[in-house]
Amino acid sequence: MKTVISARDIEELLAKGGGVSSLPADALYTPSARDLLRDLEIRNGHAVAKPAAPGAYPSNGAATPPAKQLNSKSPKAELDAFFNSAYCQGLKEQLCDIGRRLWQRAYVDGNGGNIAIRVGEDIALCTPTLVSKGFMKPEDMCLVDFEGNQLCGAKKRTSEILMHLQIMKRQPRAVATCHCHPPYSTGFAVAGVEPPTCMIPEYEVFSSVAIAPYRTPGTPEMGQLVADLVDKHNTILMANHGVVSWSHNNLEDAYFKMEILEAYCRTILVASQLGVPVKTMSAPQLQDLLKIKQSLGIPDPRHGLKEAELCDNAEWRPGVSCAVASRKDAVVGFDSEAENAVQAITEQIMARMGK
Ligand SMILES: [Zn+2]
Repeated sequence: MKTVISARDIEELLAKGGGVSSLPADALYTPSARDLLRDLEIRNGHAVAKPAAPGAYPSNGAATPPAKQLNSKSPKAELDAFFNSAYCQGLKEQLCDIGRRLWQRAYVDGNGGNIAIRVGEDIALCTPTLVSKGFMKPEDMCLVDFEGNQLCGAKKRTSEILMHLQIMKRQPRAVATCHCHPPYSTGFAVAGVEPPTCMIPEYEVFSSVAIAPYRTPGTPEMGQLVADLVDKHNTILMANHGVVSWSHNNLEDAYFKMEILEAYCRTILVASQLGVPVKTMSAPQLQDLLKIKQSLGIPDPRHGLKEAELCDNAEWRPGVSCAVASRKDAVVGFDSEAENAVQAITEQIMARMGK
């Protein structure tokens, strides 16, 4: 009888430091195991050495992560040593780099926005409060546990950290989170409008967007409402506030979600102002993109849906249309019979009011 290998078997093998090349070629692989292997293959192509298992150290490209996995209960001396290690320095520099890119693209304003990277089972590195994301220094960064308690760092951690931590707790694959206020996307969040779908491939493949209701920023309640959506979505519009995203790859990938959403919202806003109905891709075309999305390990509530259920933009109401009616509309719009009927009714009403 052939050996059956599940996704859990592969995760256990990797956790012990084994490689997928040692898996038997003639074994039976469950569908989730096959998905995981495909996901690993893609991630390895992106130079991420290990899967984003809960508590995994993210790759920072420069220094190798410490052999021992730390957690919130680790001795203070070990946490301090980790916080001051070359590996951690690399991650702090990544936080500064992404912060600068957020600021340069005007995705953050004032001290707004915050970013976090999971660095252990229940610990994360994050940005400080009251600092512009465009001008942070590596020594400004903070280490916190998953309850938001600060473990290391001279500056106080961001007040919005609870939301990032709740995402990481609820979504074990989340290795990094990014929150900012990009104007076009935030415009959709303020209007309570979920961006329509089936318009641009990049957005369909890499983003999976939902809207969370408004609550005071930084409260556990706000984090809870966002966390409720991260099972099937990687980018959450926060009503009357901004956007938060998570990635199972790395911090830059979480940031890319922002670029993709913001470019998308900007583009469809332009398209919806051109006075003609926007063109959308067909359901089979979207299905093709969703297959790519699934192979990349990116969640989407539409995975597994039938083609007929895919392109549902019933809620989408482009608010602006061309003020000048097209020639076709003008011809259709002129209906002398209807105008005469309206005129007759108006006269009757006026006559009755006169009595
Ligand atoms: Zn915010």
